[in-house]
Amino acid sequence: MEKLPEIERAYRMRCYPTARQRRVLARLFGASRFVWNWALERRRSAYRCEKTRLNWVALSQEFTQLRRLPETRWLSELPREPFNQVLRDLEKAYENFFARRARHPRFHGRRHRRSVRFTLDQRRRQLERGGDEGRWAYVTLPGLGRVKLRRTETLEGRLRSVSLSCDGAGRYFAAITADRVPQQAWSAPRTHAVGVDMGLSALAVVHDGQRIGRTPAPKALAAKLIRLRRYQRRQRRQLAAQMRTQGLDPRQRCPKGVRLGLSRRRARSRERIARLHGCIRQVRAHALHQLSTTLVRRAEVIVLEDLRVKAMARGMGRRAFRRSVADAALGELSRQIEYKAGWAGRTLIRVDAFYPSSKRCSECGHIHAGLRLERHWECPACGARHDRDENAAKNLRREGLRILAGSSPATGKRRVRETARGAVAYRGQRPEREVRGVDCVAEPALWVTTAPCQPHPMMNREPARRPARAETPRALSGTA
Ligand SMILES: [Zn+2]
Repeated sequence: MEKLPEIERAYRMRCYPTARQRRVLARLFGASRFVWNWALERRRSAYRCEKTRLNWVALSQEFTQLRRLPETRWLSELPREPFNQVLRDLEKAYENFFARRARHPRFHGRRHRRSVRFTLDQRRRQLERGGDEGRWAYVTLPGLGRVKLRRTETLEGRLRSVSLSCDGAGRYFAAITADRVPQQAWSAPRTHAVGVDMGLSALAVVHDGQRIGRTPAPKALAAKLIRLRRYQRRQRRQLAAQMRTQGLDPRQRCPKGVRLGLSRRRARSRERIARLHGCIRQVRAHALHQLSTTLVRRAEVIVLEDLRVKAMARGMGRRAFRRSVADAALGELSRQIEYKAGWAGRTLIRVDAFYPSSKRCSECGHIHAGLRLERHWECPACGARHDRDENAAKNLRREGLRILAGSSPATGKRRVRETARGAVAYRGQRPEREVRGVDCVAEPALWVTTAPCQPHPMMNREPARRPARAETPRALSGTA
């Protein structure tokens, strides 16, 4: 049996701090925000005045001085480690900014995500993983002591860092990053290739060559929207009442710097809304994980459409449509399929968003340019009746296999150019190419990713070493 590769991954679980630990965590969350804002301001002013870039080493030295000052003495009462992580995060944020991957780092407001990160010392046993049967794991952290974690799976590999966070509903979570995690063995797939058409009414329509499977969308937000709106209206009324008591006009925004009192009722509605959002999130996450795992278990080759989800959620249609795009979380689904495919050693093929998967007749190949949003249609060329999504899934599967035939599985990630036949099929879909006079023969480049996929970069004290990738990706047929 071939040795399975090791991976990097994260474990996420609920965490149950004691009352004392919750108080320390509350201080740490606030102090981390303070340190972030302080460090960002230092970097900005150093660049403005002296044209120097303060890196995290310089900031760390300044921070040591800051902890000694009498007015910020309270910082020295807290463990140092999470603040080092904050300074590293700021460094990373600037790196992303200079590489044009992100916007300039911004100050964190009072409502910013509450989270602190500790790195785990490899020489000490800070984390008790719990046995095979145990319900609990424990992590010992500076300033906090032994924190209890609800263990949901076996913690394997080298555990690198722990982030503790608190959501709006007051639930605490721990995310543990790990590397050198031995890969679990996946059973051999049952089918060769599936085409997956992701959508809003059906989350995914899957065609495996013979049969069609349809997974309904969870519509997690839509199901709770009426209740959510009721809660939000109530909160809005309570807010207006609070503003009136403080002599402000509730029809206008609360002026900057004014703190509104928090009545017990308003606090309760706020928590209720947060709990509802937490529930929505969980329903959605459950559906996405189930679907992505099933797909990866089932097929050797998975063909997806490379949707421009962000652009869809931003720019298209009415607000209700954009909301349902965000509710379906298709980008997250595609991300999960990608990393799980990497773990299981499957091949993932993304077909360009401009491939006419819906408009093409899967029987005769005719492109029905007049197709609007109808669910069912009849091909004007051959008369075949089509269900929109099923037809798209069939087309995607076929297109994916065609791309795969043109690329060798051993090359890993590479660009595949389209043939002249493909270009004819796309003509009319992308008029701007012809206008610009760019060759229509070399049509949209497609990404073929063969596993193992690039593991996600982790936030560690030092860049984690990538698992050795000397093993050649497994051949398409005949998994070991
Ligand atoms: Zn047809």
